[in-house]
Order: sequence, then structure tokens, then C-alpha cells
Amino acid sequence: MANAGSLLLPGSNLTNLLVLPSDPQPATAFALRMLPAWIVACAITGVFLSLGFRLQDGQRGDGDLPPLRLGFGAAATLAAAILVLTLPNAALPVLAVGLAATALRRLRPALDARALALLFTLAVSLGAIARLWHGPAHLLDSSGSWTTAGIGALASVLVNNLPAAVVLSAQPAPHPYALLLGLDLGPNLAITGSLSALLWLQAARTVGAHASITTYTRLGLVLVPLTLAATLATLPAAPGRAATNRWEGLQRSSWTYDASMSSEQTFADVLAAKETYADDFPLPGLPAHAAKGLAVLTCIDSRIEPLAMLGLEPGDAKILRNAGARVTDDVLRTLVLASYLLGVDRAMVIAHTDCRMAAGSEDEVHAAVSEAGGPDTRSLAFLVTSDQKATVRADVQRIRSWPYLTHLHVGGFLYDTDTGRLSHLC
Ligand SMILES: [Zn+2]
Repeated sequence: MANAGSLLLPGSNLTNLLVLPSDPQPATAFALRMLPAWIVACAITGVFLSLGFRLQDGQRGDGDLPPLRLGFGAAATLAAAILVLTLPNAALPVLAVGLAATALRRLRPALDARALALLFTLAVSLGAIARLWHGPAHLLDSSGSWTTAGIGALASVLVNNLPAAVVLSAQPAPHPYALLLGLDLGPNLAITGSLSALLWLQAARTVGAHASITTYTRLGLVLVPLTLAATLATLPAAPGRAATNRWEGLQRSSWTYDASMSSEQTFADVLAAKETYADDFPLPGLPAHAAKGLAVLTCIDSRIEPLAMLGLEPGDAKILRNAGARVTDDVLRTLVLASYLLGVDRAMVIAHTDCRMAAGSEDEVHAAVSEAGGPDTRSLAFLVTSDQKATVRADVQRIRSWPYLTHLHVGGFLYDTDTGRLSHLC
């Protein structure tokens, strides 16, 4: 019941605070969002447990349960819940309420310091690993909400839900609420899953109750799939990033410029699409820092979708584009700013097959511009190449040798516009 109940308020479970730090919102907004899942999880758990234990009690006869007494504990819990819901930052007031309630009841909390220390060490070390190793983030990126919840549940049983939350939320997950359900409800599968279960076992043994670890897991094997499925069904479709197909609703039509058009007519189609986009703007509050620490330099070719081809979302990377994906002085200037001010620590230089900038000499491009009715452009360097791969390697080396960018990790790649595949050159 504690695991199910911990879904409602941000501070009810440390996992809630760990998974949603990138999504700061008032506690009431969190509670409203989780309310249906909380009701469903508590109802199913309550009914399931009372049915399960009634069957057991039937064999030994009941009637000797101690009466339920609501004292300082219940009052303090209620006061803490109200503080969390009404104050923007309730941490210290809630701590004061907890300390006061404990002092008034003269309780001496019997915590197993070794278990807590082990848990803390595990959480910190796994968190450090997760910041360097992006395996869990990639796994969650490619998972739907049901798989995400399953991963959360399984991870919480394997390493406890606090370290699991640290690892799985090192990078923002596409389905954070599904992840929370897995991390909060999954611990009902095994006593090791959450701190509350460990404390419950300790408390039960202190008062001489026969708390069975196997019964806990046997019940959990039925209860967890039931509650996870029912609560996942209550979650609204994830907004923005994950659920929306960015191209949906956009008209794909060609565009012909007519010299008689007014400025408004010239941009009418894109301005209309922009309105539709702004009506249901999917990216409010996106930070300016590149979430994946990545800069991508590629060609202006319209067949290249830099984000989609690398499995990225808006906000993940800085995108630099020019004809031929060449490392120019302006690219170097931009990379210096991006690396020191915008969170970029790695850069990909991505040329592509069938590039106009690799299809002829400088003279031929100048001639082509001229034949197309353009002016004499021979004072411009178009930076064409006859050997794309050698040029990519040389350009990558230019970044690596640039005195302000020696700390940047750089790679050179060639994108195949026919297959969508990327080959690693250097
Ligand atoms: Zn190109």
C-alpha cells in the first residue's frame, strides 16, 4: 500500500523527485496528473490484499486485530501532505513536522545504517556510471510507455528503486510518468525493491510479526502486473516530444515563386504551417543547452534530416549547416561558443553522397552559376572537393587542431542519401 500510495505527491517517493527534476511543476499539478493512477493503484492493492488475507484468515479465524488508532502519525502525515500541496518549497516545513511528530511520540527510529549506507553508495556509484554510459538512456529512448514501466519495475527489483531511478533518469526519459509507475509499483515484486518495504520488514520483525518475504513476492507477482496495466491506462498520451509525429498534419506541397507575389504571399504557406505548430507548441521550456552534448555539422541538402537520422529530438543537439558541410571559420566560431556556453562536448561532421559540392571543380560551379543567369562568382570560394572522404578527415583535423577546441571530441561521417546509412570515416 505504501508503494501504491507513493504515486500521489512528488515527495512521497524519492523516485518521483529523481525522475522529474527536468520538469519542475507545482506539487498540485503533479498530484492532479497522478490522481487517477493513485486511486486505481490504491483501490486494486487494497481490494487484492483484503481478499488475499481474508482467505488466509478464514483458515485461522479472525477478530483479534488491534483497533486502528489515528494519532500523531496520521495528523503529521496529513499536515505534511497539505504543506506539500500548498507551499512552493515544502522541504523544511515537512522536516519540522516530521521531527515534531517523532519527538512527541518519543519514537526512536530503528534504521539499519548498513542497509542505508549500501543503498546510498549504490545510488551514487550507479548515478556516476549512468552519466558516462548512455545505454539505459538509449534503451528508454527506443521504448514505449509499457516497456518503460516494465524496465522501471525490473530495475527496481534488481537494484532497489532509488539506484534504479538514478540510473534511468540520468538523461530525461521520453515517458517519465510510465517510468515512475514502474519504479513506484515494481517494488511490490520483491522486498528489495523499495526502502519502504525494507523498513516495513524491519518494523514487523521488531514487533514480532511473522512478515514473510515469499508471501510478499507471491502477492506481488499478481499485484504488480495488475496495478501497472491499470495505472498505465490512466496516463494521458505523453505530450509533445514522444507522442507527436512532427510531420503529421503538415502539407507536403511544392512551391513555385512568382515575381509578382507580395512578401506576405511569398511566405504564406510556411506562415500558415507555423500557426498550426504554435497552436499546439510541443516544446515549451526546452533548455538552450544541447541535451546530448552534441553538435552536428552537415550539408544544407534538403534530403538530410539531421535530428531524425541520428535518433535525436529537438533540444538534443546544435545543428550547423552549410553547403558541403565544410569546417569554415564561422563553424569554428560557432563550435567555440557551443562548447563553452551551450553544453556541447562532441561534434559530428557529416558529409553526404551525391553532394553538389563534390560534383565538380570550383571553375565548374562558377560556370554553372553563370549559366543559371547568376553573376561572375569567381571571387567566392565555394569549397568544393573532389575527394569527399579526404576532405572530411582534413576538416575534422582542423577542428581537433583548433586551439580553442582541443577538448572537443570530433568524428567524421558520410551519410548515404539513398539508404539513410551513416559510415564512420574518422
Ligand atoms: Zn550537399
